[in-house]
Formats: sequence, structure tokens, C-alpha cells
Amino acid sequence: MEQNVQVQAKPIKIPGPDHPISIARDTERVVVSVAGRVIADTREALTLCEAHYPAVHYIPRKDVDMTLLARTDRTTYCPYKGDAAYFSIPAGGERSIDAVWTYETPTRRSRASRTTSRSTQIGSIRSKSNSERFFHGKTAFNDPRLSIRDSPLRTVESDMFGTMAHFSSFSESSFVEQPGRKIQMNATQLAETANGKAVEELDVLVVGAGFAGLYQLDRLRRLGYNVEVFEAGSDIGGVWYWNCYPGARVDTYGPLYQFSSAELWRDWNYSELYPSWEELRAYFRHVDKKLDLSRDIRFNTRVTGAQFDTDRDQWIVQASDGSVTRARFFVLCTGLAAKPYIPRIEGLTDFRGICHHTGQWPQEGVDFKGKRVGVIGTGASGVQVIQEVYRDVAELTVFQRTPNLALPMRQRKLDDETKRRMKETFPERFRKRAETFAGFDYDVIPKNAMDVSDQERQATYEDLWNRGGFLSWIGTYQDVMSNEEANDTAYAFWRDKVRPRIKDPAVAEKLAPMKPLHPFGVKRPSLEQHYYEAYNRPNVHIVDLLQSPIERVTPTGVKTTDGEVELDILVLATGFDFLTGGLTSIDIRGTNGETLREKWSSGSRAHLGMASAHFPNLLYIYGPQSPSAFCNGPTCAELQGDFVVACIEHVRRNNLRRIEATQEAEEAWRDHVAELVGATLFPRAQSWYMGANIPGKKREMLVYPGGLPMYLQKCKESADAGYAGFVLS
Ligand SMILES: Cc1cc2nc3c(=O)[nH]c(=O)nc-3n(C[C@H](O)[C@H](O)[C@H](O)COP(=O)(O)OP(=O)(O)OC[C@H]3O[C@@H](n4cnc5c(N)ncnc54)[C@H](O)[C@@H]3O)c2cc1C
Repeated sequence: MEQNVQVQAKPIKIPGPDHPISIARDTERVVVSVAGRVIADTREALTLCEAHYPAVHYIPRKDVDMTLLARTDRTTYCPYKGDAAYFSIPAGGERSIDAVWTYETPTRRSRASRTTSRSTQIGSIRSKSNSERFFHGKTAFNDPRLSIRDSPLRTVESDMFGTMAHFSSFSESSFVEQPGRKIQMNATQLAETANGKAVEELDVLVVGAGFAGLYQLDRLRRLGYNVEVFEAGSDIGGVWYWNCYPGARVDTYGPLYQFSSAELWRDWNYSELYPSWEELRAYFRHVDKKLDLSRDIRFNTRVTGAQFDTDRDQWIVQASDGSVTRARFFVLCTGLAAKPYIPRIEGLTDFRGICHHTGQWPQEGVDFKGKRVGVIGTGASGVQVIQEVYRDVAELTVFQRTPNLALPMRQRKLDDETKRRMKETFPERFRKRAETFAGFDYDVIPKNAMDVSDQERQATYEDLWNRGGFLSWIGTYQDVMSNEEANDTAYAFWRDKVRPRIKDPAVAEKLAPMKPLHPFGVKRPSLEQHYYEAYNRPNVHIVDLLQSPIERVTPTGVKTTDGEVELDILVLATGFDFLTGGLTSIDIRGTNGETLREKWSSGSRAHLGMASAHFPNLLYIYGPQSPSAFCNGPTCAELQGDFVVACIEHVRRNNLRRIEATQEAEEAWRDHVAELVGATLFPRAQSWYMGANIPGKKREMLVYPGGLPMYLQKCKESADAGYAGFVLS
């Protein structure tokens, strides 16, 4: 680790007006200046041992002229159409400090005329007028929050993400309005400076406008709480806002991938059994229209930091729009995939073609027709992209590390009669969700695979396979995920189904090896439609990264130990810092001064997967050590969401001010999760469930492996006992 970094200014040119940016850094701080003026100062953010700034990856966008970019050896930045820039300083690979700054231009100095026009292109990087950006996503003049949005604190930008998508949402929501003002990215100072100014006060501040956040907003608002949702994206939908890559669709079938309220499903229909991202967005628009949610959602607003004010029992929350908000409760609904993961591949920033992470896909889409395309990663998103684009592209090269044990989706269009008949079953299906392992309307077979005859087992596997979806995974024999022998039978069945679909035996061995690389089902299977047939095309190629690792990305393609593949488009289907990434990316500081990120650096500690000691009145949904990734999304949004609402209600009804998990309870929960997973085959794979996809992340089971009924029972026991495992005051 580098310890003695010299203070050294390096001029960098960015496009637009020719303003040199200099970055001075030493072991304690990083100061960024534009045209001699200090515009960002990380102050005490970097300690000696963290003073190591390896280059981060910059994902080029087709609308940014890459030739105008320069890079230092330790930082990466990109221009934003000449009037804002993005700068990321990762420290020691563990913590990172990212800043977006704007620099002074003549138009910026005079306050832009305000319009009430809504933003046009969601998340687009294209240029907009200042006024459009200023009020992006909200009507401005009548907005009661205007005084806060106008606060001088709007000059400050900080965030923990080092990604382009976040950059674009930042840039669209905020601007430097005070030339010459020194900007500091210290959240505590922010809150202090805000004292005495118009700081909005809420009962509950919810982060994230996916299923979980919307459910909280609707329920709490109906109960009379003053609640608001802060959302980084420009629209509702959560993961379906960000993951709009070709082929993105949900692997839960439609009837169960929606809210259970009849008020909402009565006049809503998906056209296919497994809806695409486009249709999911239409569904969210329907929900919004019915429940009038958007009026209490602040879009393009990324929550960046929070500290608990022990005197007033409130969270002081900072957001990317410079606002500071006080809230009695802070409910984080940031989902499991809020922080895309981009592996450190040498030369990635040199690639001259189009390159995007699936989780930050440009809203305007990418044209694949006739292009030479590379896809890195064959997780759920990779499989979806591959099977969607292979017919359109000139050449498709798939860079695979581990084969996806994908299952047949059995996608179909739904006619009116089918939709009508399905709806008759909805109340029963929704009721059943709480009784099944994964929050679906079916459950594991309450028998052991090894207790039945070979013939019966084979017939059962065949039936599940033909019915499609996740049935072969979470609707199979109860011992498949815990007994190696049973698991081998499931793998053998899967392999023997898949291999005959692939013509080239060498390719078949890569996609469905005779000997499993890990047990069946311990990594998330994707649902496929014609994934394996894609590889029979002469224009589709697979590179096995276990045999031929990537050496580097070049300006024109990807170079493995086997040679270079020339590409026009590079798709990074490389996953996320699942479950914890979204939470730890926010600089949330507990009552003992420790951040959530620091607290979880040695493993997550989350009582019932929802609350942590020293973080009073902070609750999170779909987070670590809750059923999350093993639970259908809307099911958990509602059932876990109900616990959170009840908890807040309990505090209010009893005239209390605080609820906080105890250290004993979070340790006991951690032990409970460890004990449960110890009886399964999950630890046998390098999966994101186990935190193994992120270098340096603690290897531990991040998902509650006991099933939803057991989980809900534990929640109920706690609530019935007056919230056992929590301190109330
Ligand atoms: C590609 C993909 C496919 C999936 N398929 C399935 C499936 O088939 N079945 C299933 O059950 N689940 C699936 N999931 C999981 C999915 O996350 C859940 O179904 C569901 O979306 C969870 O809803 P949520 O509200 O908890 O989180 P999300 O939908 O992830 O919403 C979280 C929101 O929080 C916002 N946010 C995060 N951090 C901040 C911040 N600091 N400030 C402001 N806003 C912030 C994000 O912008 C996002 O809009 C899939 C996930 C992905 C990524």
C-alpha cells in the first residue's frame, strides 16, 4: 500500500470551455481546483492508511468524445458536455470518495430562469438548459421544498459511487450556484451549516422508489405520517429503472410480480407470463396513477449521508441535491442491486467502443444491429442480453467464467381468457406467499429426493422442467440444497436436458460440464428462452475465462490469453455489490461514530435483517440477512414492509422516540444465519449470495436461508414480545 503520496497538482483538460482542472492530493486530503479556484476539498476524508488511489474504471459513453479525455494514473474523470465533470478517488479499494462538481461558466453565475417543464429524457446525458436541470423531475414554482432546494448547500456534491449512471443523475439535479465558494464534502459539517436554515422535517424519510419504498410511502401516508421518498433515478420502478438492457425481464411470473392489493391488480394485466422491463415500467406508472405516489417522491436525489441527532432523536440526511432533511425514521429501501460492480480489468477505460454495465444501461438504448458485441459475465443479466441480441448482431462473443445453470422460462403471451382466469386465483396466490419458502405460490416438495425411487424422482424432475420457471429450483425436493447426493441428481437431470440442445460438444462442455463446477442451485439460475440455441449460430462464440483469462481490454476489443477479440460494443454483465452495497454506499454514521460500512466491514450485523445496533430509528428492507434474494421482490416489500410500518406505529402509539437493535440481538441473528447456512450447500460456491463476487468483501451468507415462514415467525415473535432484540426509549 502506498503511504507517501506527494502533493502534486496535475492539470487535466476537459471539453467545453478550456478550463484546466488541478488535483492536489496528499495522504490526508484531495483538493480539486478549476481555473485556480478550489471547488472540492475532501478534508479529513482520507487517513494515512487509505491514501492509495488506484485508477478506477471509467465506462465510456457513446455521446462523450473519448479523445477529449485525459487520465491521471490515479484518478478517472469524465466530462459532462463541457459544464460539469465527474471525479472519483477510490481509496485503498475499500472506501471511495466521489465528487461531482460543476465549474463556473457565465450562464451559471446568473441564476437561470426557472421553468416548470418536466425533464425529458430520463437519465440521459445529453445537454439541457440549466433551468431544465435545476428542477429536473419536479415542478418547481409551487414546490413547497423550494426553499430547501434553493439552499446554498446545493453547491455541495458528494457520493460514494464511482459510476457514470450516478454521475448523470447527479448532474441533472444540481449545480454550483455560488462562484468562489469553497466546497467541502463533509456530511457532518453540512448538517451544522444547515442549522437555522430551512431544513425540511419529516416523520419518515424513505430511500428508494422500487416496490419496497413505494409500499412504505403508501402505507405510512395512509396512516397520517409526513413521509417522503428520495430516489436517485428519474422515475419509479427501482431496478426496472436502471436495468433496461435488451432482454431484461423478471424471472418471477407476472401474477406474483406485483402488489397484492386488489385496488391495483383488478385493472392491471401483463401481456406475457414473464413481463419485460418495458411492461414493468408501465405497471409502475399504473401504480403511480392509482396511488398518486410521485407527488411525494423527490427524483434525481441520491441520499449521500446521514447522522443521528441524539438530542432530537432525528436523522439528519444529506442528499445529492444539497438538501438536508431531518426525519424521525430513516427507512432504506435501496434494494439488493443498487451498486453495480465493475471488475478492475486493465485497460477498460481505453476501450473506444460503446461500453455499459447492464445495471446502468442508457435509457435511450443501444443499437446492436450488425455490431461486434462482447458480453462479460453469464449471470442472470448476461443470459438475458445474450439470448436477446444474438440474432441481430454481426458477431457475439461471450466471456464466461462460470456457466449459468439456466432453467426453461416457458414464456407465453397471455390472452384475455387466461388473464381473467388467473385473476380468480389471485387472492389465494397472494395469501399463500407468506407460507412458502421463497414468497411464491408454490413451495418445495416436502420429501427427500433420495427417499423416492429413481423413476419417481426422474418423473418429478421432468414435470417441474416442463412447467418451467423456478420450479426446478425452489419447487423441487426439500433436500436438493442440503444433500450432495440429492443435488447431484438434480444437476445430472439439468445437464442431460441442456447438452443435447448444443451442437458442438466442446461448447456443450463449457456450458453444461459433465462434472458440475459447483452444486446445482447454489448460484442464482437464470430463466432462459433460447439461450443454449444461441450458441449453435456460427456468429456466436464462447470464451471460457477459466481457460483463457482476460489479459486486458484494448481500445478495440478484449485480449485474453488466447488472443484479441475485436468489438464495437462491450456489455458488462458483471453483477452488483449485492445486498450491502446500496446501504454501505451511503455515509450513515451511527451514535458511536461508526459508519454502517465500517460496522459491516467484518461482516453484516442486522437484527432480523432490518436493524443494527447504534443506528436507532433506521430500518432497511430487502437487505442483508433478510430473505431478500431468496424471496420474491413484491412479497418481501409487503411482508417485511408491514413489520417496519408496525414498528414505527408501535413507537408512535406508545409515545416513544427511539427503537434500536441491541448488539446481542444482531450477533444472535448472525449466528442463526450462519447455523442455517451451515446445513446447506451454499458455502460450496463462489456466489454473490456469499459475498464472493466482490474482492475483499467478507465471505458470509448474505441472504436468510431459513425460508420466509421461519423468518416471519421470528419477526412476529419479536413484535409480540414488545420488539424483543430492540431497545425502546
Ligand atoms: C436484473 C434484475 C432482475 C431481477 N429479477 C427478479 C425476479 O425475477 N424476481 C424477483 O423477485 N426479484 C428480482 N430482482 C430483485 C429485485 O431487486 C426485486 O424484485 C425488487 O425490485 C426489490 O425492490 P426494492 O424496492 O427493494 O429495490 P429496488 O427495486 O432495487 O429499488 C431500490 C431503489 O433505491 C434507489 N436507491 C438506491 N440507493 C439510493 C440512494 N442512496 N439514494 C436514493 N435512491 C437510492 C435506487 O435507485 C432504486 O430505484 C431482480 C433484480 C435485478 C437487478
